[in-house]
Formats: sequence, structure tokens, C-alpha cells
Amino acid sequence: MQVSLNLEGLPVVVLGAADDARQALARYRRAGAALAHFESPAAYRAAVALPSRPALVAVVGLQGGRAHDAEWAPVLERYRVLGVPRVDEPAAGPRGHVTLVGGGPGSRGLLTVDAVEALRDADVVLFDRLAPWRELAELTTAQLVDVGKLPGHHKVPQVEINRLIVEHARAGANVVRLKGGDPFVFGRGGEEAAACAEAGIPVRVVSGISSSIAVPAAAGIPVTHRNVSHAFTVVSGHAPLTDDEHRHLAGLGTAGGTIVVLMGIANLPHLAAGLRRSGMPATMPLAVVERGHQAGQKTTLTELGRAEADTARCANPAVIVIGEVVRLAGIGSRAAAEDELRGLAASFMMEAEGTPT
Ligand code: SAH
Repeated sequence: MQVSLNLEGLPVVVLGAADDARQALARYRRAGAALAHFESPAAYRAAVALPSRPALVAVVGLQGGRAHDAEWAPVLERYRVLGVPRVDEPAAGPRGHVTLVGGGPGSRGLLTVDAVEALRDADVVLFDRLAPWRELAELTTAQLVDVGKLPGHHKVPQVEINRLIVEHARAGANVVRLKGGDPFVFGRGGEEAAACAEAGIPVRVVSGISSSIAVPAAAGIPVTHRNVSHAFTVVSGHAPLTDDEHRHLAGLGTAGGTIVVLMGIANLPHLAAGLRRSGMPATMPLAVVERGHQAGQKTTLTELGRAEADTARCANPAVIVIGEVVRLAGIGSRAAAEDELRGLAASFMMEAEGTPT
């Protein structure tokens, strides 16, 4: 539901409980309306000054059934509101729509303009913890639903997420499903889009900046570099790779391709051993970049031969990069610039100390 009208100065009455009315109020306020809001029939009866001829009456949250509606009857009558939709008399077909939004690797600055606009216009945002969720309250007035964790700390299963998306859209909401990185890179965005299509709900995809490129970049590692690497392969390390896959990757890596592994921390020892068995040299550089573009970002630089020991304390979320490009780590990154500045400052200090006054 979107209000793009200019209601500057026009009287608008919103009827409904505070939680239900939050979205509507924010929208009409933005449109410049002179708002009156009644949370309950009692509040309406107690009001002293009522706008006599509102330009618009928005009734929200009356889906509680007939008994609840009946309480509002005198108010609705006064404003001659006709045909309040009820859940037991749904309008034909779905009215809401869904936008699958890629939120990038977790920093607000890496949201796209389209992502920011979609969030601003949303009624409901279903998010998980890889997206920039901490800033959501500043970016949208939508109802926020954390599908990354259930109260018992388990992830909400994918079928349940699909069901929630469809349910909110069927109720008429403009739903944003905010995902980390790009929705179509290991994000199960395809399944969510398919679930919407199956339910006949219009769905749009807003591409995001994928961690597979942006997280190596946060450590100053370009995934391709002229004369160093002319290809990069993004692999999921969620399940242990087969010997065939190890051989294939080792071939790509040895021929100068970069290997980027997402969700690979738990299986890193298995991967490193598999690549070595398949002939990748033990001196091949390997980096693990944890929490890229987020507070606490950390880069561990090592090589294939001792990756297990050197990365034993690395934790998710992290991106593993294997290839010669890792030797370029630090190019253009803030960490590298800071290191350089510290080095410069130290040499000035030494000069100053050595200069007789
Ligand atoms: N669709 C996402 C990937 C989802 S799979 C994208 O395009 O980026 C989840 C994996 O992405 C994590 O296990 C981790 O490997 C990686 N990841 C996402 N955000 C990250 C971040 N800020 N820092 C490090 N790794 C990240």
C-alpha cells in the first residue's frame, strides 16, 4: 500500500490500534495530511474536536472479525465509510507485492539507491543478520521481522520464510525481503521468487553488492588483476566438496584463477587438504576476511600449506580467497592506508628525534 498523493493540509482520519496504524500514520504524515487518529471507539467517543469532513478516512487493523468491526460502527457511520475489507470477505486476488532486496555485505553505505527506496516504501521488512539490519529503523517505518533467528536461536526454516513472505503480501502489504549481499548469490533468493510466482504475487529483484567481491575488496584484494588473475570462481563451502570438485578448483587456481569460497570456514581444513592432494602448491596464498565492511573486520593472510593452523580461530561470516591476487592484499583498503600512515608517522618521529635542536 503506497501513498504518493499530496495531501498537504487536508484532514485525514485514521482509525485503528496504534500498532496497526503506525504505517498509515507515517505515510499520511509524509504526504502532509492534517491527521486525526483514533485508537479505539472509546477514544473516538472521548474526543472533543472531530474533523467534520475529512478528505480521507483510513481504516486499519479491522481484520479482527465482525465483533471487533461492530465496535467501530458508530465511527464508520459518522464518516460514511463503506465497504471496510474483512478477512472473512477478502478481495479477489493478492493485493500486495514483494521486492527481494540485496542488502550488500552489511554496511549501510553499500546499499544501492534502489534498496534504500524499496525499504522506504515497505510495509513489512523480513530481514536476516547478514544484511545491514541495525540501521533498519532509520531507513524504514515498516514492521520489521527478523527471520535470521527464532527466540530459541534457531534459524527460521526457508519454507517458513517463503510462507511468511506470501502471507504478508496476500494481506496487501508491500513486502521487502532484505538479504545479505546479492539475493541470487547463495541467498536462496531464487526459491523465494519462485514461491511468490507460484502464489501469483508480483515479485521484483533488487540486486545487491555481493560479499564474494566486496569482502575481498574490503581487505584490498581484487578478485581479478591484470597479468595475475583473469578469472574468479565463487564456490559454496557449506557442504564438503568432492574430490572431483577439488581437482577442478585446483586446476583453475593453478592456471591463474582466483577461488572465492563463501560459507567455508567449517570445511576449510577439508578444502585445503583436498586442494593440496589435487596438486595445488602449498605456497598458494590464502586469505580469510571475517566480517568484511563491518565493525571488527579482520584479515588473516597465510598460504595453502599452513591454512588449517593459521585460520583455526577464524569465524563466520567470512570469505576465503585463494590465489595469487591475495599477494596484493591491502591495495586501496583503509587498513593498508592506515598502516602506511603509521609507518610515515614513525619515520618522521625518528627523524625528529635524530635532529639536534
Ligand atoms: N548472498 C550473499 C551470500 C550469502 S551466503 C552475498 O551475495 O554476499 C553467506 C556467506 O556470505 C557467509 O557465510 C560468508 O561467507 C559471506 N558473507 C556475507 N557477508 C559477509 C561479510 N560482511 N563478511 C564476510 N563474509 C560475508
